Amino acid sequence: MSFLALIARNRLALGGLIVMAVVILLALLTPLLPLAEPNITDTSNRFVRPFSEGAPLGTDHLGRDLLSRLMWGTRLSLAVGFAAALVAATLGAAIGIIAGYYGGRTDNIIMRGVDMLMAFPYILLALAIVAALGPGLVNALIAVAAVNIPFFARNIRGITVSIAHKEFVDAARLSGMSDARIILTEILPNVIPVIVVAMSTTIGWMILETAGLSFLGLGSQPPVADLGSMLGEARSALITNPHTSIVPGMMILVIVMAINLLGDGVRDALDPRLKSGALNRPLPATLVARDRTPAPQTQEGILALSELQTQFHVKDRVYRAVGGVSLAVKPGECLGIIGESGSGKSVTALSVMGLVASPPGLITNGSVWLDGEDLVGAPYATLRSLRGRKVAYIFQDPQATLHPLYRVGDQLIEAISSHRSISREEGRRKAIELLEAVRIPNAPARVNDYPHEMSGGMRQRVGIAMALANDPEVIIADEPTTALDVTVQAQILSLLDDLRRERGLAIIFITHDFGVVGQLCDRVAVMYAGRIVEQGPTRAILDAPRHPYTARLMACVPELGGGRRRLEAIPGLPPAVDRLPEGCAFAPRCDRARPDCTQGDIAFDADNARAVRCLYPVDQREAAQ
Ligand code: ADP
Ligand code: MG
Repeated sequence: MSFLALIARNRLALGGLIVMAVVILLALLTPLLPLAEPNITDTSNRFVRPFSEGAPLGTDHLGRDLLSRLMWGTRLSLAVGFAAALVAATLGAAIGIIAGYYGGRTDNIIMRGVDMLMAFPYILLALAIVAALGPGLVNALIAVAAVNIPFFARNIRGITVSIAHKEFVDAARLSGMSDARIILTEILPNVIPVIVVAMSTTIGWMILETAGLSFLGLGSQPPVADLGSMLGEARSALITNPHTSIVPGMMILVIVMAINLLGDGVRDALDPRLKSGALNRPLPATLVARDRTPAPQTQEGILALSELQTQFHVKDRVYRAVGGVSLAVKPGECLGIIGESGSGKSVTALSVMGLVASPPGLITNGSVWLDGEDLVGAPYATLRSLRGRKVAYIFQDPQATLHPLYRVGDQLIEAISSHRSISREEGRRKAIELLEAVRIPNAPARVNDYPHEMSGGMRQRVGIAMALANDPEVIIADEPTTALDVTVQAQILSLLDDLRRERGLAIIFITHDFGVVGQLCDRVAVMYAGRIVEQGPTRAILDAPRHPYTARLMACVPELGGGRRRLEAIPGLPPAVDRLPEGCAFAPRCDRARPDCTQGDIAFDADNARAVRCLYPVDQREAAQ
């Protein structure tokens, strides 16, 4: 969404933007407007009331036209406020970037100086600066800018420190760029949004501070008007002629309010975390909106999905990530789900326990039967008590799923204690037992390790141990070996295989690798564009794929010692799930497609152990030729 559209969505910020645009426009046009001279005194017409002839806002104690003084005064106050903000932001950002980028002693010296500035109450500091430089608007500007520099310097230094050690900065350094160039081309673009946000939230404050100094007679000098000096001069007539105070007072109020509202809007619109929805917390369970009453369970198994549909509703688009998936696993059985990236495997897996983020996720149809109970639409308390206890997940990246600041043992204990109360000693014993179960050598010592002290394969073993923590009946493993190298992958696969035999686990194993499927899975379901296109026993599918997509997928896998077989990449890309074609979703990429492939739904008998969603499946005799 564009920046303006984001601002416009925030009503208050939009109001602030409009008010500020009008005020700034008027301030720019002031010299062109037919206004009275602001500084000509006319003592015979003192304290004329507002709405009088010739003086729409009345006159002040010297008979000067208030409207004219207000306009010129606003112009001056805005100019000084903006200038002070610009100076403070530029100098403060420069100091912050230099301190943060060079670090070490430079950082220490600069930041201690900044700390000293911050140690003074800043109005006192501003007064001291003006007292030293002498009263006057320019000196007031310098004072206000100076007291705000530390604020910018601290802010920007913090951001710079975090950026200066990122890989892209290292890369720039390695490519031989000079420090100055790195600061200008790599660091600055990343801190500018922060500078703009800090400025937009402080300009109002600086206008107030300048007005304060002028109010005390230290800023603009008579007869020149700014908003602060107008207020100061009106002070003695506050009771008898309040309009002389109200006119500049209202203007200050309006300007500062408008700038602050706009500033908040700018901050929200520029913050990339807010833009990507960091503040919208997903619901604890995926929303359900089934328009059909679900059919009773047909497939047998401890876990059975039937016609499950999960969609993402983003604005007016509907992404059909899972479009009616039926599958089942029995205890002790391993079902593989295989498909290209983006085919809907992860969303299917997450839908089982209502873990798809809502909004935008929505389960629109189907059921998830666990032990004969439908989990789609089950109360959150039910789902919560089942998550991790009956159905556990293993994810791809253990680095991301383990908390970096806690010992792995404590994390295992936490996984257990979220379902039953357990004493510390018992928890520790159980954690060691779990680490032993996943074949981690020297478990009593490793239980005290932090995740970063373990290798990738070890961490994934901890991930598996965590999944086993509450003796689940079903494990859903979403590409658990994709981030590992092949030897470790083989170990993890054989571990999973042992565990399911020892414990009678039902495993749903998601992967994009046929080699992995062959090692572990009893049955395979091939997914494409959110639907299962072929299913069957692993051997049958590996030996004789029937869906052209499965056949093409397998032709993409290189074989060791396979000679000079040509590797055939599948032309084209999977369809976008918000614009699925009619009929077979694979037809546009399929060399066997005929006109009727793109008309109407293609049937799939999910209850059949060997089924294919294709009108012209690959015939084995033909494939053999
Ligand atoms: P994979 O098979 O690689 O695990 P996923 O299940 O992660 O694929 O994704 C399936 C489809 O759902 C993809 O096309 C993806 O673009 C879409 N998708 C996933 N999350 C969202 C979301 N939050 N909003 C819109 N579309 C999404
Ligand atoms: Mg995935």
